[in-house]
Amino acid sequence: MTGFREEIRAWLREQLEGEFAHARGLGGPGREHEGHEVRLAWERRLGEAGWTCLGWPRRYGGRDAPLADQVAFHEEYARADAPARVGHIGEGLIGPTIIDFGTEEQKRRFLPPIRRGRELWCQGYSEPEAGSDLAGVRTRARQEGGEWVLTGQKTWTSLAHVADWCFVLARTESGSRRHAGLSYLLVPMDQPGVEVRPIVQLTGTSEFNEVFFDGARTAAGNVLGAPGEGWRVAMATLGYERGASTLGQQIGFQREFDRVVETARRTGAAEDPVLRDRLVRSWLELRIMRLNALRTMTSPSAGTPGPEASIAKLYWSEWHRRLGELAQAVQGRAGLVADGPPYELNDLQRLYLFSRADTIYAGSSEIQRNIIAERTLGLPKG
Ligand SMILES: Cc1cc2nc3c(=O)[nH]c(=O)nc-3n(C[C@H](O)[C@H](O)[C@H](O)COP(=O)(O)OP(=O)(O)OC[C@H]3O[C@@H](n4cnc5c(N)ncnc54)[C@H](O)[C@@H]3O)c2cc1C
Repeated sequence: MTGFREEIRAWLREQLEGEFAHARGLGGPGREHEGHEVRLAWERRLGEAGWTCLGWPRRYGGRDAPLADQVAFHEEYARADAPARVGHIGEGLIGPTIIDFGTEEQKRRFLPPIRRGRELWCQGYSEPEAGSDLAGVRTRARQEGGEWVLTGQKTWTSLAHVADWCFVLARTESGSRRHAGLSYLLVPMDQPGVEVRPIVQLTGTSEFNEVFFDGARTAAGNVLGAPGEGWRVAMATLGYERGASTLGQQIGFQREFDRVVETARRTGAAEDPVLRDRLVRSWLELRIMRLNALRTMTSPSAGTPGPEASIAKLYWSEWHRRLGELAQAVQGRAGLVADGPPYELNDLQRLYLFSRADTIYAGSSEIQRNIIAERTLGLPKG
């Protein structure tokens, strides 16, 4: 084991056996509502100890950590069953975008609170008529009295109910169409012109929301990149969405898989030849995923967005959804009944229900297949 990995492991053990023992495992998929306050305190503790934003440059408070170290961090984090992060959108999406496109003033203003867990972010891209077809956004913003004024609606906005800021893709040039005339605005959430309405998901909880802008305001300087060039900035953010944390997630997957196998042993499902076959297949595919991640980490283009990112997203999300189905199957009929009233779910039921979303967010499977078809196989546009 490398010194770096040992250091992370020791630090996590000390914290999660000590002051944060009660935070272990809080807030996983379908359990996002759990322990927000303690997870926020945890985010701040990580920041104080220098365990957030490892891949950021040192001059912005990161460690310039190579991809392999970042992945090691995510692996150890999952192995320790540390609480689900509340600051991942800031660290993984908007932070790197600000580093690449922000002015020095924007970097000074926005990066330190992300790194310290003092400000949380959400992503305002999708709208009711603009999901896969993001260029169809209709939310508008115009300049008035030194501010941008926004009107429109976003939807499926993860963590908007706890976020301090939202990065919003909005149409700022009237009469513009598609990719032109969009701007990437940084909008404070706590103001009268912003209303957040939770959407109840299959798990019975609300990880995402509808967000309504009705005269919401943000300073004229809170635009990332030039006004009208929001599409380029928005695409860069999407490129970060499949970074180091994705490569490190197999440890968490292995834990879920082990739980499915344990249940199969207990219920007798492990003796069913068809289910045994599915379990073995799932394990093999998880091994392939792991080996692929190792290969990606050591390849010269590691961390660069490209068709490989689409292959990886398609592979892990489809695998995870199948694991969710297997988790239901090994429980037998018991899996169809809630653990308690009114809608208490066990971990495997949550896994099944939440993993349905994996093949939708961060670009649906159909969209990933289109990207692979067009950019890798050179097939004509679908
Ligand atoms: C758990 C979760 C969290 C999310 N968090 C956020 C968030 O924080 N911020 C945010 O902005 N968005 C978020 N999203 C939204 C997500 O990005 C969209 O759901 C996704 O892009 C798909 O868009 P849509 O739901 O409008 O579906 P649509 O685009 O309407 O697609 C409907 C169906 O048609 C298929 N389809 C669409 N176009 C094509 C095509 N050209 N070729 C083939 N098939 C096609 C799709 O694959 C899908 O099966 C989240 C979604 C989920 C599930």
